[in-house]
Amino acid sequence: MKFEIRKSFYLTDFTQSHYFKILRLAKEKYEFCSFTNFKKSKKCIILRHDIDASVPAALEIAKIENSLKISATYFILLHSPWYNLLEEEQAESVKEIIKNRHSIGLHFDSLFYNIRTEKELVKYLNIEKDFLQKIFNVEINAFAFHNPDSKCLKFDKWKYAGMINTYSGYLKNKIKYISDSNGYWRNNRLYDLINTGNNMVVQVLTHPVFWQKRVNYPKHKIWEVISRSAENKLKGYDELLFSFKRHNIGELSALIDNIKHIDKQTFFKIEKAWILKEYNEVILLSWMLLNKLLNRASSMKTVQSKRLVNSTFKKHKSYINLSDLIGQVLCGKKMLHAKEAYKTLTEIFKIIEEISLHK
Ligand SMILES: [Zn+2]
Repeated sequence: MKFEIRKSFYLTDFTQSHYFKILRLAKEKYEFCSFTNFKKSKKCIILRHDIDASVPAALEIAKIENSLKISATYFILLHSPWYNLLEEEQAESVKEIIKNRHSIGLHFDSLFYNIRTEKELVKYLNIEKDFLQKIFNVEINAFAFHNPDSKCLKFDKWKYAGMINTYSGYLKNKIKYISDSNGYWRNNRLYDLINTGNNMVVQVLTHPVFWQKRVNYPKHKIWEVISRSAENKLKGYDELLFSFKRHNIGELSALIDNIKHIDKQTFFKIEKAWILKEYNEVILLSWMLLNKLLNRASSMKTVQSKRLVNSTFKKHKSYINLSDLIGQVLCGKKMLHAKEAYKTLTEIFKIIEEISLHK
């Protein structure tokens, strides 16, 4: 089943190395043009990327293209629920994309304004265009509707607000179009379309977030990007307070602040699960960490480490009780509540602290 999904949706197409291969092939068959300079009588590809989820993910693609001396247009969304264009990492990535010799377009969310008339469309396009031009000091010559519905597709003139409309009647009806929306092909595979080389002008739309280093499922790619971004924001806030010598006070602070240097990532996960009230998860993560440390100590095979492991088990009779409890949690017989979880956590961390002191 797993293999079938990959195969039927050609998910192995969506890697950066495969993208490089496609571009190399495309260079043999086509020229690369932009929305402003293509000619209908000349074989060319207009390369467009809609950035819905992450600008740093788009930058990876921008660098691959630049390595082949190919330029594309990157359409930036001002109303993304997933990235804030003005946060440092995103804004810096836009600047890097520009440095990699690409153009910037406006990815326009008409649903945000509930646009009904052409006048309203032009008004809001101008506002967003001016903003992008001023912030990034570039000229914006094209726009693309984000999640285009039947309402906005009625606006099908060649240009609005001085920008080429990528869903204009001409581009929609006269130019071959291929898209990887939602992380899979609808009709053609890009490689096949380019390989046959039967078209004059082709508008190729990709969403960079789906072109990662390894083969993966589209849902996983989006979830990973969003989770990583959330995690970085949480860690950034911790570091910010730490740099100001302030405390980021949480319910577990008294228990873990002294020992979290042992394994920052695991303690981050433990605290996150605690805040989300996933107490079984908290206990399992802590138990695994404790055992990892004990295993590490026993694998050292020194007299000292043996003594440490033995003393840990002898001193803490609670270790046996704890393992009984973990057994119940694992087989689903026990759902821990906050008070019980806190008590258990205190016992586990006591042992962890002792192990760390013996180092
Ligand atoms: Zn979009």
